[in-house]
Amino acid sequence: MSFHPPVRTLMGPGPSDVNPRISEALARPTIGHLDPMFIQLMDETKALLQYAFRTKNELTLPVSAPGSAGMEACFVNLIDAGDTVIVCQNGVFGMRMKENVERIGAQAVMVEDAWGTAISIDKVEAAIATHPDAKALAFVHAETSTGVQSNAQTLCQLASENNMLSIVDTVTGLGGINVDVDGWGADAVYSGTQKCLSCVPGISPVTFSPRAQAAIKERKTPVQSWFLDMNLVMGYWGEGTQRSYHHTAPVNAIYALHESLTILKDEGLENSWARHTSNHTALKAGLEAMGLSLIVNEQDRLPQLNAVSIPDGVDEALVRKQLLEDYSLEIGAGLGQLAGKVWRIGLMGYSSRPENVRLCITSLEAALLGQGVELTPGAAITAVNASYAD
Ligand code: PLP
Repeated sequence: MSFHPPVRTLMGPGPSDVNPRISEALARPTIGHLDPMFIQLMDETKALLQYAFRTKNELTLPVSAPGSAGMEACFVNLIDAGDTVIVCQNGVFGMRMKENVERIGAQAVMVEDAWGTAISIDKVEAAIATHPDAKALAFVHAETSTGVQSNAQTLCQLASENNMLSIVDTVTGLGGINVDVDGWGADAVYSGTQKCLSCVPGISPVTFSPRAQAAIKERKTPVQSWFLDMNLVMGYWGEGTQRSYHHTAPVNAIYALHESLTILKDEGLENSWARHTSNHTALKAGLEAMGLSLIVNEQDRLPQLNAVSIPDGVDEALVRKQLLEDYSLEIGAGLGQLAGKVWRIGLMGYSSRPENVRLCITSLEAALLGQGVELTPGAAITAVNASYAD
């Protein structure tokens, strides 16, 4: 029997709703991964990724695997056994960076901040002072587990001033907030397709600065992962028309990525960031009118990922179940330390639309009223509408 998934509204931590234009692109006829037409599409996709990342980096491409592979690609290409890497952790994904570093046989010097707070620049400066020989500084720009954004500009600057490479996770950032790879002077940056690009999951856009590219070319030991070795991948994704087979690209998924980046370019980066902010502001107004609050300080909040405190006495899993069953609406649970303490409401990419904000607020209100929470019915949607009218 064929599988027919339900139609959901996806307002969790990703994947986000896929724009129908992207689904339609995905269904176009498959062609060979070395077909001249596909090579042309690869070039266009690279150029669009350079636009999205705000970079001129030649080594910019979509890794044929999800965000975790983008993360791994950055670490295995730039870090060697015996190296020291300063790793910032203020949520789930910094921990995964540590895992990557240690599996390579390198040492991770951890800079830890409380979950729900931004990375402390003072602590990073102190770690750099005690480990001046570290090869790289790695951090998560947009922490999906908490809804926090950290100061990528300053962190990348600290890395380059101290002759370290910067490794930046912006899986949840790209398309939703400013990601300025060249402006920051970032060296290795990876993202995902299933968040603010609203594309199907399973691809990880990455970009490496000329400095990082040189470090990869000059490696004395082969990259431990054959599949993620950028020296080999570039034989397929590199400049010129003489492309050689490395692996079979996920041809249709690249059509989808190309379409999603075309949509982003048509809208314009600044307009996309503004849309994410406007919908976040409306959502926040509705949540606050219900007596709910976000756990992150206003200046460090990600507009595309809202971590909401669960009120005392509320069965948070039951609320999520009701939203899914009664409204076909998915919101996310808390992860790691925040499991059971927050809901994560995503407003990513195509999911970041006023009708979704309204659906989320009205259905959440109904679920909370059902659990006996005291609130004024209708106040939340009124606040949402007032926010959009401003
Ligand atoms: N980094 C961050 C910040 C993420 O949010 C995610 C996924 O949610 C990942 C890395 C891993 O991406 P994927 O699940 O596509 O492998």
